[in-house]
Amino acid sequence: MALVNEHFLKLPNNYLFADIAKKVNAFKVTHPKANVISMGIGDVTQPLCPAVIEAMHKATDEMAAQSSFRGYGPEQGYDFLRYAILKNDFAPRGIHLDLDEIFVNDGAKSDTGNIQELIRWDNSIGVTDPIYPVYIDSNVMIGRAGVQEGGKWSNVVYMPCTAENGFVPQIPEDQHVDVIYLCYPNNPTGTVISKQELKKWVNYALKNDTLIFYDAAYEAYITDPDIPHSIYEIKGAKKCAIEFHSYSKTAGFTGVRCGYTVVPKELSASTLDGGRIPLNPLWNRRQCTKFNGTSYISQRAAEAIYSPKGKEQVRRTIGYYMDNAHQILSTLKGLGFQAYGGENAPYIWMKVPQGSDSWKFFQDLLYGAHVVCTPGVGFGPSGEGYVRFTAFGSKEQTEEALARIEKWV
Ligand SMILES: *Cc1c(COP(=O)(O)O)cnc(C)c1O
Repeated sequence: MALVNEHFLKLPNNYLFADIAKKVNAFKVTHPKANVISMGIGDVTQPLCPAVIEAMHKATDEMAAQSSFRGYGPEQGYDFLRYAILKNDFAPRGIHLDLDEIFVNDGAKSDTGNIQELIRWDNSIGVTDPIYPVYIDSNVMIGRAGVQEGGKWSNVVYMPCTAENGFVPQIPEDQHVDVIYLCYPNNPTGTVISKQELKKWVNYALKNDTLIFYDAAYEAYITDPDIPHSIYEIKGAKKCAIEFHSYSKTAGFTGVRCGYTVVPKELSASTLDGGRIPLNPLWNRRQCTKFNGTSYISQRAAEAIYSPKGKEQVRRTIGYYMDNAHQILSTLKGLGFQAYGGENAPYIWMKVPQGSDSWKFFQDLLYGAHVVCTPGVGFGPSGEGYVRFTAFGSKEQTEEALARIEKWV
């Protein structure tokens, strides 16, 4: 008899974006003439840059000739890309990593979801709240999160990030947490962490033998020179942190699929009898067993982002989104709303007016301005009372949506 993994049944049935789509569709049925603009999308909209397209065409041609055809590549990724990563993403920041500490992947979602395989089922996990749902759901699926009670999982420590604490999560000093997920710049709040704050986390992790999973998917949106792009900018982080990168938001790779994970060789975790096991060989073993590498064409595309032309073109697209972000932030603030983020991230996190809540405001905005936002409570209990706007729309649509919001308010 095949018994099902019943932990899957604990997952909430309704997926946030499916709920939103249902409500938007209901609105469209009763308002067929309305032109709804979405500021809720978490996907990029601008096309791949020319340097990337050129590299993909070239790689495709190589695949078409017997002499240059490539089959399975290394599970860890091609050296040409891993070298480009070391040289461009880390060396300029004074971070020295070895080639075999870089694992190219097919996007950060896979690895942020898979990484928990390295740790025992009974570790406690901590998350900032609100949060990217993958971190929790992937732990629910194997039973590590416990049971859901009142919107929270029993084995998850929630660290609220709200306007009241300036979106700086409180370190669980009085409590030992085995594994902590951090995401900066943050999705959904668009807020960032200073070097000084991040240093406190690294010190906590070193003191408590806590493992940090650090998601740097939005690192390319940082403009403030004092904000760290990598946790390895903090001394000691190689002993306690795994870091995830993605080309999805950096270079519009959501449909191409490529990113990478850093597992330092200095990083180890404890066995039950107190031994130390390095995690780099473990992750390598896991990848070699379950992953057959990212496509050659995607990896050549990623390499092209690091060329002088590629860098400049990618910057331009990020600048385009960030112009939207600044517009959204200043318009919302100008209307008297409390709005956050949007300066080093493509997300704006807005407090809904008193007396409203996430879903009520979502509904009011949809019916009043025909604009879609994302209810903050969908990202965790501390997201209640907030909504998220994204800067990934076109300039024209963003401006139109903001004009409508102004009129509606
Ligand atoms: C979009 C996003 C990712 C990237 O996912 P990919 O699988 O690389 O497309 C990772 N983490 C967060 C928080 C994200 O919002």
